[in-house]
Amino acid sequence: MDQRLLRATWLGGLGAIICAPTFAYLVLPSVAFLGLPTTGGLWHQLSTITGLLALSALVCAAVLPSRLRSLNRAFGIESVIDLHRFFGVATAALVFAHLACVVAAEPANINLLDLTTAPGRARAATVSTLALVALAVLTVLRTQARLSYELWKWSHVTLAAVVLGSAALHVLLLDQLVRDAVIGTMFLLFTLLLVLVLGHRWVWRPMIDPSTEFVIRDVRRENPTVSTLVLAPCSRAGQQATSWAFAPGQFAWIRLDRSVMAEEHPFTIASSAHSDATEFTIRHTGDFTRALRRLPVGSTVWVDGPHGAFTNDVGTSAGFVMIAGGVGITPMMSMLRTAAHRHDTRPYRLVVVASAPQDLLFRTELAQLRQLLDLEVTEVLRRPVEGWSGHTGDIGVELLSAVLGGGHQAADVDYFICGPPALVSDALSSLDILGAPIDRIHTEQFDLA
Ligand SMILES: Cc1cc2nc3c(=O)[nH]c(=O)nc-3n(C[C@H](O)[C@H](O)[C@H](O)COP(=O)(O)OP(=O)(O)OC[C@H]3O[C@@H](n4cnc5c(N)ncnc54)[C@H](O)[C@@H]3O)c2cc1C
Repeated sequence: MDQRLLRATWLGGLGAIICAPTFAYLVLPSVAFLGLPTTGGLWHQLSTITGLLALSALVCAAVLPSRLRSLNRAFGIESVIDLHRFFGVATAALVFAHLACVVAAEPANINLLDLTTAPGRARAATVSTLALVALAVLTVLRTQARLSYELWKWSHVTLAAVVLGSAALHVLLLDQLVRDAVIGTMFLLFTLLLVLVLGHRWVWRPMIDPSTEFVIRDVRRENPTVSTLVLAPCSRAGQQATSWAFAPGQFAWIRLDRSVMAEEHPFTIASSAHSDATEFTIRHTGDFTRALRRLPVGSTVWVDGPHGAFTNDVGTSAGFVMIAGGVGITPMMSMLRTAAHRHDTRPYRLVVVASAPQDLLFRTELAQLRQLLDLEVTEVLRRPVEGWSGHTGDIGVELLSAVLGGGHQAADVDYFICGPPALVSDALSSLDILGAPIDRIHTEQFDLA
């Protein structure tokens, strides 16, 4: 499906989740007759509206990070995570507004916060709110508290499950909402949606789906700190292994066990979209990436993907400018290798930035790709090194205008930037000064948390 259509469909779906229950409450006469307090004073009405909106925002916040490939393809993983954060904050704000309206409608309702005396429906609401607050505090303090990614992830998931479960209990025990035919049906649909999406994310993909199983064909050393894993989909008894479809520049999560609890990390697919083997080029920065380097040929890994929208496989473009820092060259390699397979004649301008000459990856292959493509490669070292006569320093306007050339048509070209945050922000501000249209600039940073 065309990316704009995909985005419009998802925005329509999320919009429907947000608006439908409140719209039904405000507009449908059947709802007013069936016991909901549309006539119970302004604060009653506002408490119902804020409660319904909080629930809708919570459903969106739960759906967004559930690794739905079409959603990640529509917006890109960074925007999906940003949207998830937005809906998380919106849920918290609406919950507190709901609480304020409940107390404003009837001041004695403040006693509902007392967990020892409050009825079940109020206790469920309080537990949900406390878990929501803990979730927000944990997210804000994650960097200061130096929580490991895994500890942060599992605390986040556990608290989110408590928020969802106790919010559902609150609605069920309120009874009047679920008794109404229209709103009750909507809640049923929300529940079904969550069961399907969360079941797909936490049960089907990590524990059952056979298409996630890959075998290691080779582990190639690129330099002392970087290796390439060469994978192929596992063939089942009596079945031919089928290669999988991805767009150049997309990424996948890799796990070393078929278990929902297994540690998993995201890596960009570096190979051509038309190659039989799937390659991931990985810098060994910690325990997990070092374990990948030691994997024996023939062992199995589990790959959840492809995800993301950092790809040149959409839209019409007269050419591409790619700026890569360190191992951020992996999506660019996938795009260039795919372009060579497709005999693409459009111009590709690649700027690669590294700390030292030995960190410049794929130099031999890039020289070969220059014979097949209209490709120019500019190598840049961050600091001058003895014997190096090429470019040095940060990415700036001068360097980029030299790379882009005088006759460059900024409006026709797509720009891809991948690397450390400082490089991404330098490149973004330089491209802005050079007049590159913002909607043609695509960025990816190798940090999701
Ligand atoms: C979309 C995307 C694509 C990526 N592509 C590549 C690639 O092609 N090649 C490559 O070498 N690296 C890539 N990375 C980075 C890679 O995921 C991390 O380097 C790796 O997870 C580090 O794991 P570690 O335990 O070995 O190192 P650690 O030292 O434990 O982690 C280093 C940092 O990586 C991040 N990180 C750790 N675990 C995870 C996780 N499970 N999910 C997300 N981030 C995590 C944290 O910010 C952490 O501070 C990519 C990251 C993202 C988000």
